[in-house]
Amino acid sequence: MGKSKTVLPQNSTDRMLFTFMIVGIPFAAVWLGCVVLPHYHDTINTTVVLHITAAAFIFYNIFHNILLVIRTDASGRTSYLPSVLKPGWRYCAICQVNYPPRSYHCHICDECILKRDHHCKFTGCCIGYHNHRYFLIGILYVFIGAVYGIYYQWDYVYSTINLPVIYFFMTLLAPHFALLFGAISLWGVLVATLHTLGLITLLMVSYLLVMQVKAICLGQTQYEMKHGIHDYNLSLYQNLVDVLGRRWKIAWVSPFINSPLKGDGINFLKANEYELPKDI
Ligand SMILES: [Zn+2]
Ligand SMILES: [Zn+2]
Repeated sequence: MGKSKTVLPQNSTDRMLFTFMIVGIPFAAVWLGCVVLPHYHDTINTTVVLHITAAAFIFYNIFHNILLVIRTDASGRTSYLPSVLKPGWRYCAICQVNYPPRSYHCHICDECILKRDHHCKFTGCCIGYHNHRYFLIGILYVFIGAVYGIYYQWDYVYSTINLPVIYFFMTLLAPHFALLFGAISLWGVLVATLHTLGLITLLMVSYLLVMQVKAICLGQTQYEMKHGIHDYNLSLYQNLVDVLGRRWKIAWVSPFINSPLKGDGINFLKANEYELPKDI
């Protein structure tokens, strides 16, 4: 784990998206637990306990991974950076420091980030070498939570709206029209709107996850993927360890499982220097 910092989103778009996420995720959990679940079950039985345990596990992982994305210092400020410009390095005129390959300056965070992946507008900070693990596992759990929640409440939403399939989907797209025609109640509008928001969240996070998995499999950051840089593609195994750390097999269970990164975020092995798989 890198050094710790406490910084909340710097600009208004980031603050808006951060609020949407930080309010929306607990709200979804309360909604599913207090509105949808009692619709299916009258008493607390094994199924209810299993659902609550699964939901708590997903929520725990989303929350703590987000927290660690924000709290982990992804910049190189605390690393030793040389005063002589080495080959392949770059001088950042804003930070006035020499930075290693794969690091770039973020104009929102106003600092250089080691192995900069991208600026995350939902957490208001950059994803780089030291917090990439938390970001990847965090969006994986948001994806699992969204699939779980949408699947779980589908019957409830369908029976609440109570319209033929074609009108059901039209109601999801424009619930206010269904209300105008007297097809659903105000409660139906709320249920349909929340379900649509859930579907939008699922679409967004699926896109993020696909882009992340694609780049990580190829040993690239989002920047390198956009610019066609393939210099650091070692092997699928090494690329995965580079993001999730040495204990990648269990690192996804909890963000507090220690999984040290094999490098320092400054020196990277290039694909043409890579020969035999190292024993990790
Ligand atoms: Zn900089
Ligand atoms: Zn940034």
